Amino acid sequence: MIIVLLGPPGAGKGTQGELLAARLGIPKIATGDLFRAALREGTPLGVEAKQFMDRGDLVPDSVILGILREAIASPEAVRGAILDGAVRTVPQAEGLAECLTTIGRKVDAVLLFEANHTELIRRLSSRTTCDICQTPFKGLQPGTACPRNDGGRLIRRQDDEPEAIQNRLNVYEELTAPVIAWYETHGVPVQRIDAIGDVTDVTARAAQALERVQHAG
Ligand SMILES: [Zn+2]
Repeated sequence: MIIVLLGPPGAGKGTQGELLAARLGIPKIATGDLFRAALREGTPLGVEAKQFMDRGDLVPDSVILGILREAIASPEAVRGAILDGAVRTVPQAEGLAECLTTIGRKVDAVLLFEANHTELIRRLSSRTTCDICQTPFKGLQPGTACPRNDGGRLIRRQDDEPEAIQNRLNVYEELTAPVIAWYETHGVPVQRIDAIGDVTDVTARAAQALERVQHAG
């Protein structure tokens, strides 16, 4: 199964993707990680991406999709993959669908991790970052000495202030609502997962949702 993960910042999508991947025995493919690896290793598509970046241009979706297609076509992903960060906009959903068609695959399910804004703001604003090593920490107050003992102090980044978080959530919703509608009208089951609560409970709910999709298909 090819599974696309969607969810707002703070919903724990990355963590859930890893836990689900382990549970299903298929790889989690995080677009951001793949992209950084392609740049680092200087693969042909990595070199192409770097040329856009060096000119100060955005890397086009087509280059990112090419990198993604290589990963999905690899032997590790023969039984499926969990895609994190692959789709944020409708053009990306369309691009991914076309790209998968060229290798005889398709998106089999979308898992949408949901949590209310109050909870997401609470989670995200509890993050502080060291002003020296830039490591993020959860649940430590601003002003605390960095646990890595590098002489740094923890600060709350501008991005993690409640107002900035609200803004990020609004941007996410504006972009993602049409993506969900797109999948629904293209016959891809969208399973909504309550992302609040114990991490393992959330994984169990997601796994059950995928079973329902498999039985229905
Ligand atoms: Zn530090």
